[in-house]
Amino acid sequence: MAHTRSSYGTGLLPRAGRPAGLRGALALTVSIGLLLAGGCASRGASESEQDTAGPTSSTPPSPTSAPPSAAEVGANELGEVPILMYHRITPNPQSVYDRTPQRFRAELQRLARENYAPVTTAEYATGEMDVPAGKHPVVLTFDDAAESQFRLNSSGEPAEGTAVAILREVAAAHEDFRAVASLYITTPPFGGEHSGRKLRWLHQHGFELGNHTLDHPTLSARSSSEATHQIAEMQRRITREVPNAEVSTIALPHGVHPQPEKLARSGESEGVSYRHDAVLLVGARPAPSPFSGNFDPLNVPRIRSQGGSGSGSELGSTVWLDKLAADPARRYTSDGDPSVISHPADSTRTPAPGQEKRINAY
Ligand SMILES: [Zn+2]
Repeated sequence: MAHTRSSYGTGLLPRAGRPAGLRGALALTVSIGLLLAGGCASRGASESEQDTAGPTSSTPPSPTSAPPSAAEVGANELGEVPILMYHRITPNPQSVYDRTPQRFRAELQRLARENYAPVTTAEYATGEMDVPAGKHPVVLTFDDAAESQFRLNSSGEPAEGTAVAILREVAAAHEDFRAVASLYITTPPFGGEHSGRKLRWLHQHGFELGNHTLDHPTLSARSSSEATHQIAEMQRRITREVPNAEVSTIALPHGVHPQPEKLARSGESEGVSYRHDAVLLVGARPAPSPFSGNFDPLNVPRIRSQGGSGSGSELGSTVWLDKLAADPARRYTSDGDPSVISHPADSTRTPAPGQEKRINAY
């Protein structure tokens, strides 16, 4: 799928022209030397460079035809990706969907500690996940455009205690943990005041602006023309404020599709057409690899951020992250090369049609 990736980066080249392992967020600001020191050496780097590159350099390359790092890091790019779902970040949670700033920060720190690397929903859905070898992609999604997710302070920076500010703090303290997330916008965005300025700030800093519909209705309860209006009009308002934003994913309000369901993927209303690479549901399990035969762009599951006890916790993030950590065959692990899809030869998962040429079974 051809996309201009202007929203995610800082001058990302098309995949073919981009050094493997070079991540967009760092592309302009970090020298190759720093990247190597950080352990994201591309497979194209010389042997001597790899010898100084950190974790992947301790074992000699295997003599097989498989790219050496894939086996060494246990690459499993047909494995599952957790897409975590957040709503409000508040000191006074009022529902199971709310998380305190402390618990949110602790979850991000856990993800960083367990070698997760954040990507946006759009990057996940298109398979353009430039994740260092041995790391696991994770998608952080935020619904409802709540003020507790993002505000700007008087200096024009994310206000202390907001989700975006906390994410940036954790990212700054952890190598390879990009401060990126996908925010699903509805009315009014982030409290309404200066919403255009807020949306532009997010876009300029690599955050994805996704569609959560104009008024957050249960789409199945609306006519098809009303449902397409709800989606198209939200997209129109986002792109009116941020003309170069590409709204390419949607989170369904309440996880409910319009009728017919395909209207969630593409449609047109009053001269505005939309097309989504992923349609996000609400629950309640990790998402298939975008390269696997199980990937269904119209039904992409998410996991609610939630602690390990209490009602519904068996479907929440603490329990699911425990399960994924205990089961390497289940979890997506990157080979560090966006152009190749590596997986163990004994994987029981099948690649999606059309991906065969990129497969490296080791
Ligand atoms: Zn919502």
